[in-house]
Formats: sequence, C-alpha cells, structure tokens
Amino acid sequence: MLEVADFTKKYGKTLAVDGIGFTVPDGNVGILLGPNGAGKSTVIKSIAGLLRYKGLIRIQGQDSRTLEAKRHFAYVPELPYMYDALTVREHIEFITRAYGVEIPESEISGLLARFELADKQDKLGNELSKGMMQKVSICCALVIKPQVILLDEPMVGLDPAAIKELKAVLLELRERGCTILISTHMLEMVKELWDVTFVMDKGHILGTYPREMLGNEDLEELYFSVTGQSGAGEDGK
Ligand code: ATP
Repeated sequence: MLEVADFTKKYGKTLAVDGIGFTVPDGNVGILLGPNGAGKSTVIKSIAGLLRYKGLIRIQGQDSRTLEAKRHFAYVPELPYMYDALTVREHIEFITRAYGVEIPESEISGLLARFELADKQDKLGNELSKGMMQKVSICCALVIKPQVILLDEPMVGLDPAAIKELKAVLLELRERGCTILISTHMLEMVKELWDVTFVMDKGHILGTYPREMLGNEDLEELYFSVTGQSGAGEDGK
C-alpha cells in the first residue's frame, strides 16, 4: 500500500504541490493524470526519495525515507539513467546486489527476453538507444520484485511490442498484490490497467475517481471534464 498525506513541495518560492493526499491499496493501479506542470513528477520523485518535501509518505506502512520502505519499492524514472561503463546485464546485477536479493539466472534471462534485450546483454549503457535504455530501466525495477512500483511516463519511447509486454507485466504484478502508481498522458495505454485515477492540476488533486465510479465515461472524457481543457485549439477546432 502507498499512502501520501499532507504532501507539500516547494522549489524555492514556487509551490509545486499544495497539501495533497491519496492512497493506492495493495493490488491496485493508481494513475496520476494532469496537464503539464500539474505536479505529477514532483509527487513521484518525492515518493522515490529524490526530493525533500513536507508531509507523510508511507510505503507498506513504513515512512518512505526508511531503509525498510526502500527495500519494498522500485522506481522507473521519466528519463532513464544508464551507467556508461556497465553492460545491460551488469545493470541488473548492480541492482540485485544493491537490494541484496538473489534472483535465479533463468529469471533474469526470462525478463530480458520479454523486453527483447536478450541479445543486448553485453552492450554498454552508452551503446543503447533511448527505448532500449527505458526497457533496461523497467527490467531493473521489476527484477527486485517490488511490492510498490512507481512509473513516471513509462510508455514514452517504447515500441509497440514493449508497451504490450509492459502492460502484461503490470497486470501480473497487480494480480500478485503489488501496488502500482503510474504518471502518464497516454490514456489509451492504461485504459485496461487502472483502478483509481487522481486528476491533478496546479499542485492540487481535483478529484479521485475509482474505476467503478466512472460508469461508461472513459479516462479521456474524465480528464477533459475535470481539468476544463478542451482537447481542441483555442478556436475550438
Ligand atoms: P509534465 O506533465 O510536464 O511532466 P508534471 O505534472 O510532472 O508535468 P512537475 O514536473 O511535477 O509537473 O512540475 C510541477 C511544477 O513544479 C511546475 O510548475 C514546474 O515548473 C515546477 N518545477 C518542477 N521541477 C522544478 C525545479 N527543479 N525547479 C523549480 N521548479 C520546478
């Protein structure tokens, strides 16, 4: 479970997120939706421990800043970061050692194969395309078998096969009771996945929408009706 309460983040004098709160229960997929600058990445990066903030964030009941909480969660950043001098395989080994988990060789190979990285295992970080880096980043997050996973715009830059695989993996994680939080603008990509959507704008949560509340309305309609954006140019065309 992921719990965020009284969460506020300022960058200098800029108030990026203003006292928000939300919960994603075990086995649920939460979606952070909102226009550019709404505060989505700020929330995700803060949960991941990359930013200082005011408020309370709990992962599996533990303060997110504790080592115990960090053991349970994985983070896929918006922009993948690779170590130039490590191969794809070594990135995976680095992560498993850092988390102190022993993952059978066959599982690592299986994961790399799912994301069509089996033949890229010996490539160095700086020899990969952007999409390949994104896939390595996703594999690094998945290999530790997290109980909570945060993904910031995970589908950007992925090819259709990788998007399909990522969706399948996320559904499997949900089935296993994992808590998933995704920030995305690609509404079509998450339409089969989500359980609860939090619509953000200007640092506030405008509404929390469990799937059962939505009826026949889809995420796109919800997004436009809640944010007041029209989805068309200024002249309405
Ligand atoms: P996008 O959809 O464009 O990725 P977002 O919803 O993720 O946007 P954030 O990146 O969280 O939005 O930004 C929220 C607010 O915080 C914006 O007003 C942004 O200008 C500001 N902001 C973000 N990062 C910084 C920073 N490092 N320094 C100062 N202000 C920042």
